[in-house]
Amino acid sequence: MSRSLVLNATYEPLSVVASRRALVLVLAERAELVHPSERYFHSERVTVPEPSVVRLCRYVKVPYQTRVALNRRAVFARDGHRCQYCGATAENIDHVVPKSRGGTHTWDNVVASCRSCNARKEDRTPHEAGLVLRSHPAQPRNRMWAVIAGGSVLPDWEQYLGASPALSA
Ligand SMILES: [Zn+2]
Repeated sequence: MSRSLVLNATYEPLSVVASRRALVLVLAERAELVHPSERYFHSERVTVPEPSVVRLCRYVKVPYQTRVALNRRAVFARDGHRCQYCGATAENIDHVVPKSRGGTHTWDNVVASCRSCNARKEDRTPHEAGLVLRSHPAQPRNRMWAVIAGGSVLPDWEQYLGASPALSA
């Protein structure tokens, strides 16, 4: 099923929906077509490009604190695909305070890490393992993270998701 990125009236990314639904928004003049995809939607009377990106005509208020799904893809993107202990290419998700020590599976306790730091750390805290975190992990606040966490990002969308080097890594 093809998907479309929905932008708020302010061009902030809001969500990803089925392209057919995005097309309905455009035809109902509730959204404008920003980027067509290369596919077309055919009906009896018209042939219209399937949207890749649409923008809502009216601003939609979103709660300030949006829950962003915590998954490997999103954590890697947040951390720029770099080990947060040594800067090498990340391959694992590390729980800063190990789960076996009561650490939680939450944004503020997970970081991307390389295999060797992850192995070196084992069931210890960074301090015990002689490792230093390069950044303080936190939950991403921007809606773009919800989009990133939700699945693959199409090339047309990238410019609306912020100039994040994390996306291309
Ligand atoms: Zn490392």
